[in-house]
Amino acid sequence: MTDTIFGKIIAGEIPSEFIYEDEHCIAINDIAPQAPVHVLVIPKKAIPRLVDAEADDQALLGHLMLAAGKVAKQLGVEEAFRLIVNNGEGAGQTVFHLHLHIIAGRTFAEGQM
Ligand code: 5GP
Repeated sequence: MTDTIFGKIIAGEIPSEFIYEDEHCIAINDIAPQAPVHVLVIPKKAIPRLVDAEADDQALLGHLMLAAGKVAKQLGVEEAFRLIVNNGEGAGQTVFHLHLHIIAGRTFAEGQM
């Protein structure tokens, strides 16, 4: 649980403000925001990458999506936000504890990722 920075944050070993928390996940502001709103939704269960999730994690994965929607509403960005999961180093994943990026507050040009 505590072998990544997110595990330590969830365990309270590294202080961090939770802007949302429920039984299964937390949400925190990204330390190096790529947009005016850049929030990470992180499951309390440490799954390294999305591809490491198993059938038993189905409900948790759905829960994370619902939590992301709740957080977007809480932040007032529910009309325009993007959800990103980086899977693997080659895709830019740097913290190997599954997380969803909520990105908002900037324009999203058509066709631009
Ligand atoms: P990844 O690149 O793995 O998809 O995303 C990891 C994200 O975690 C990055 O956007 C990075 O800025 C963020 N991050 C890394 N360390 C910390 C930290 O200690 N606190 C917070 N709030 N975000 C972090």
